[in-house]
This record gives sequence, C-alpha cells and structure tokens, in this order.
Amino acid sequence: MAKHFDYICIGGGSGGIASANRAAMYGAKVAIIEAKALGGTCVNVGCVPKKVMWHGAQIAEAIHLYAKDYGFNVDVKDFNWAKLVENREAYISRIHTSYDNVLGNNNVEVINGFATFVDAKTIAVNGEHYTADHILIAVGGEPTIPNVPGAEHGIDSNGFFELTAQPKRTAIVGAGYIAVEIAGVLSALGTDTHLFVRKESPLRSFDPMIVDTLVEVMAAEGPTLHTHSIPKEVVKEADGSITLHFEDGKSHNTDLLIWAIGRHPTTDKINLQAAGVETNARGYIKVDQYQQTNIDGIYCVGDIMEGGIELTPIAVKAGRQLSERLFNNKPEAKMDYKLVPTVVFSHPPIGTIGLTTQEAIDQYGEDNVKVYQSGFTAMYTAVTTHRQPCKMKLVCAGDDEKVVGLHGIGYTVDEMIQGFGVAIKMGATKADFDSVVAIHPTGSEEFVTMR
Ligand code: FAD
Ligand code: NAD
Repeated sequence: MAKHFDYICIGGGSGGIASANRAAMYGAKVAIIEAKALGGTCVNVGCVPKKVMWHGAQIAEAIHLYAKDYGFNVDVKDFNWAKLVENREAYISRIHTSYDNVLGNNNVEVINGFATFVDAKTIAVNGEHYTADHILIAVGGEPTIPNVPGAEHGIDSNGFFELTAQPKRTAIVGAGYIAVEIAGVLSALGTDTHLFVRKESPLRSFDPMIVDTLVEVMAAEGPTLHTHSIPKEVVKEADGSITLHFEDGKSHNTDLLIWAIGRHPTTDKINLQAAGVETNARGYIKVDQYQQTNIDGIYCVGDIMEGGIELTPIAVKAGRQLSERLFNNKPEAKMDYKLVPTVVFSHPPIGTIGLTTQEAIDQYGEDNVKVYQSGFTAMYTAVTTHRQPCKMKLVCAGDDEKVVGLHGIGYTVDEMIQGFGVAIKMGATKADFDSVVAIHPTGSEEFVTMR
C-alpha cells in the first residue's frame, strides 16, 4: 500500500526544503523527494559555490590591483584552484549535513530518488508509491545549450563547478547573471576570459547606468567583451582547443567554452500529464497568486513557475507562504513578487530594486519621474593607482517623489541594498531617504545624500 503524507514536496532545492520544513513545524506529516543532493541548484551548482568563487576572485583583485598601493609587498607564488574547490565543496558538504539535521529535527521524511506523477494524488519513486493530500512541485530548472553544430564541446554552469583545474583561456557565451558572474570570476582569477553577447551589451534589462559602468570596468579590468556575437558553430581542433565561429564570420579559439544562455524548467520529465497539471509551451507551470496549479491540491514554486523570478529567496518565501496558508490557517498568505531586491555578483557588484528610469517613465510619464544620480571613485580604490568607479541612482515618481527604483554598481554595493529594500517596500520617498543621517565614510551614504 502507498505510504500517505499530508504534504509531499518534489524537489529538495530552495523552494521544496523551505516549504517542507515550514509545513512540518506546524505538525504536518511531510516528505521531501530529492533525486540528487539536498539544497538543489542554489547550494550545489548555484549561489553558494558561485559566491565562494566570487570571494576568491575578490581576494585575487585585492592582491593584484590594490595591495601594492596599500604598502604590501606581495609576492604571489601561485594560485591553487583545486584547493579553493576542495574548501568550497567541504563547505557545501557541511550545508548538506545541516539541511539533513533540520529536516530530521522537523520529522520531514527525506526520500532519495526521482519522482514522477502516477496521478494527481500519487507519486512514484524507485518503484514505490506515495500519496498526499497536498503536493508541491519544486523541481527547478537546468542550463540551456544552444542548438548549434558542435555545441556539445562547451560546458554549462554545472560543468564550471566541476572544473578541478583553472582554465588558461575561456570563452563564455551569454549576457545574463550567470555569464557575467562566471566571466568576472575567471577573469579576476587570471584566466584569459572572453565574454560574447548577442546584442550591444550584457545585462540589457538593467538600468543603462549599470550596464555602461559594468562595460567601462570590463574594458579596464577584463573580461574582454565581444558584442553582436551570435554563435554559428563550434569546432574541436586537433590540438584539443575549441574554435567558436560566429554568424558575422569572426571566430575565436579557446581552451574552454561555457554556455550561459539561460535555463529551462525540468517539468517535462515528471509525467505531469498523469496529474493533468498545465504548463505553458516552454514547460513553466501555470499558477494563481496562491501558487495553486489548475489541479486542486497541487502547487508549484520556484524557477519553474510561469512569470516567476529565478532567485533563491523567491522560491524560499513562496514555499514558506504556501505552507503558512495550507498548514497554519492563514488563507490569505501569499508571495508578493513586487519590488524584489537583487544583486549580480559581477566585478564590481551590482544591486538593484524596482524600476529602471525607462520603466518608471513608461509607468508614470516623463513629467512625473525625477532621477537622482551619484558617481564617485570608491574610497577603497581612491588611494591606489588602479581606480574603480561607483555609480548610484534613485528613480522617484510623483509629487511626493516616492522611490520606485534604486540602482548601484561598485565596491560593496552587494551588501548595501538589503535595508533599502525594506524602505522602498514601505513606500519611502526621497524626503524619507534624506531624513536619515548618513553613515560616514561609506559608499551607502550616497543613497541618502543625493541632490
Ligand atoms: P532548485 O534549487 O533547482 O531545486 C530543485 C531540486 O529538485 C533539485 O535539487 C533537483 O535535483 C530536484 N529534482 C528535480 N526533478 C526531480 C524529481 N523528479 N524528483 C526529485 N527531485 C527532483 N539565486 C540567488 O538568489 N542568488 C544567487 O546568487 C544565485 N546564483 C545562481 C548561480 C547559478 C550558477 C545558478 C544556476 C543559479 C543561481 N541562482 C541564484 C538561482 C537559484 O539557484 C534558483 O533560483 C533556485 O535554486 C531555485 O530554487 P527551486 O527550488 O525552484 O529549484
Ligand atoms: P538569464 O536569462 O539571466 O540570461 C541568459 C542570457 O543569455 C540572456 O541575456 C540572453 O539574451 C542570452 N542568450 C539566450 N540565448 C542565447 C543564444 N542562443 N546565444 C547567445 N546568448 C543567448 O539566464 P542565466 O544567466 O542563465 O541565469 C538564470 C537565472 O538564474 C537568472 O535569470 C537569475 O534569475 C538567476 N541567477 C541569479 C543570480 C544572482 O542572484 N546573483 C546569479 C545567477 C543566476
């Protein structure tokens, strides 16, 4: 007979784990099914290993770009990529243990294996059947590989985290978060890195102030940016190197090619038809504002939901809100997808909340939008021969100048914007920002002193 639960979460990633733990804390009998390692994309091949590599890259920059002018006579013998990877993986292994402990303490049953739907209430794993009153689909996505001849000679972001040695030369194709972040890490660590984007710049959905500054810093520090580069074919050469051919007739020879052209949901592998759950043509699951699919008792959160935002805290919060609604008698609990703060761990980092200037103009009309901007040399780099710009912007709307957009790029911007997210979510105006006494000397004080 099938084992029965109140709640089954398919996918032990950001959304599934958060939702399972929250439901169990309210006394629900919960199982979580994970095919690979607990923690999903974020912990194993996403945020966590990426951020560790980014910290490594920050140390490299401190040594190579700044240490000398701070008076240090630094003689770096080598950089041991394998050591960094070993320490990173040991850290991830400690996270696995801690996840295991928390799930265990909450009495969540962890089922290892690949889940498929049998019907709307039944899941099969390793030949066993499990039933539940409520089922959450949180199976996440996987990297997309383009459909060009020879594409198999490239790796994806998962492959990047499997590298045990530092590549000498790397080409990265893509213009989003992952392309920019991996290119920045490799370049700072000393790999000859080339970033190829299809259009005129990377991160085109970001405010132009951000994009222009990123491109300016890339020109000064690397990686080498190639615009209007559409891959046509990839050829593996006799010497083991890889040549990328582009539609404009140009080509580029490299040791390693990384595709970072986006991700797609893995919902095609779980026999969704058996449950009757609707997806769009690209496999994203349709949900209402309560994460409810078209089938009663089946829900979805995270990277695979139609119209979602592919960030860990989004999956986590949506998962927890769902459990609050289902198991803590909060019928109105739901995720608010508006004004989400986000950081790109580029070099330098980018932080952004809310609307770009153009989005604000489209929404409120040009006459109702006022933009405040600030640009300076980050003090960290002001005493060194190598300088790095820091740029900030507030986008305000209406007579009361409500802050509807906040954007920054520069040293430590990644750690500046979380609190401003609270203020903006509470509806802060420019006058509210100005009413706060600056913390001096910091970069973040610029956000409350702009004129
Ligand atoms: P996932 O975390 O992908 O979890 C899904 C889980 O389901 C996986 O463990 C998978 O093995 C499992 N699974 C799939 N199918 C089945 C099945 N049939 N049966 C059982 N288990 C199954 N976000 C940030 O907020 N900040 C960052 O800095 C950041 N950096 C990133 C860097 C990279 C390189 C990548 C790829 C992503 C990054 N993200 C970042 C995005 C973030 O990782 C995702 O938004 C988040 O992990 C989505 O969570 P999820 O629960 O939807 O899915
Ligand atoms: P993305 O959707 O952000 O970017 C994909 C990019 O690839 C786009 O710029 C697109 O124009 C380009 N592209 C698409 N097809 C192409 C092709 N055939 N040839 C060349 N370029 C092509 O995707 P991503 O970078 O893979 O990241 C996925 C998501 O993961 C992000 O949207 C983000 O939400 C999340 N993420 C977040 C962080 C963070 O929070 N710091 C870091 C990494 C990833």
